[in-house]
Amino acid sequence: MILDADAAAIAGRPDVTMTAPGARPYVDVAGVGKTYRRAGRETHALESIDLAIRSGEFLAIVGPSGCGKSTLLRIVAGLVGASRGDVRVEGARVDRPQTNLGIVFQSPVLLDWRTALDNVLVQVELRSLDPKAYRDNALRLLDQIGLKDFADRYPYELSGGMRQRVVIAMALVMNPALVIADEPTTALDVTIQAQILELLRELQQKFGTSILLITHDLGVVAETVSRVIVMYGGEIVEEAPVGELFARSHHPYTEGLLAAMPHVGQERDRLATIPGSVPPPTMWPNGCRFHDRCPYAWERCVAEHPPLYQIGEHHISRCHLAEEPERRAHPHEPAAAKAGA
Ligand code: SF4
Repeated sequence: MILDADAAAIAGRPDVTMTAPGARPYVDVAGVGKTYRRAGRETHALESIDLAIRSGEFLAIVGPSGCGKSTLLRIVAGLVGASRGDVRVEGARVDRPQTNLGIVFQSPVLLDWRTALDNVLVQVELRSLDPKAYRDNALRLLDQIGLKDFADRYPYELSGGMRQRVVIAMALVMNPALVIADEPTTALDVTIQAQILELLRELQQKFGTSILLITHDLGVVAETVSRVIVMYGGEIVEEAPVGELFARSHHPYTEGLLAAMPHVGQERDRLATIPGSVPPPTMWPNGCRFHDRCPYAWERCVAEHPPLYQIGEHHISRCHLAEEPERRAHPHEPAAAKAGA
């Protein structure tokens, strides 16, 4: 949830520049796609993804379940290979799990026979480094995430939220150059959520760590990151600096997400919803993949897959409204709503 005053501040935030021309991004993803083959059938889970993460940048990817964001995470981390395209970290092609990388997964998996502190140090030991050299850092991290008094507790003595925080400390203990956080705060209450995000932001500012935050929560994005990529149906549908996205979102899916956010100070009987549901990768429609849920869709959207249009200097959107903006004046009930009714 964001306050209206916060929303105004976010919208007024100066835009960050994208990677400077000629400068090499820390992570460079070019034309990446992923196709799974099962029982002789091909499923395209990810299509032609281009993205760059600069050193020290805090970037978010927002999208619904099944939009391909977790597949993209695993490809960037080197945990699965891409079917097409190229991923480079510091200019070197990624073809194996990355070592200078911390990953925070959604589901905390800890070793039951080790204390919270010893779990935090697991990655250090796996890389044959001396855990004593990282002990102070591990304790400081546990302190920062509210687990100072739980360092000697075992996982079965911790709540689900506490275990998730230990997983976050595990990812950060070696001060990695890149942290990928996959829905790191979904299971946590808002106070702890704020602490975790503050910790990530501190890491980014203090050590110049690049952070890629994967989330479905635009509220988390608003208060944390500098740039946002919105994904839908296995592809990027909008990308903009966070202030620009909140002030002038272009893609109707992003518009729907923003309308669905609760705002303190605004009285609404119920929050807006996007009709219909995200189709699985085996059933993505022709043309625009959002067309049956979109209140502006017309014939062209069904027939023609939209490219990424340049909306502003650092703003792109995969929507034909970029060429026919007058159609925005005539919203209608989306096909998915009619089908549902
Ligand atoms: Fe909606 Fe058409 Fe834009 Fe797709 S291309 S988001 S259907 S207006």
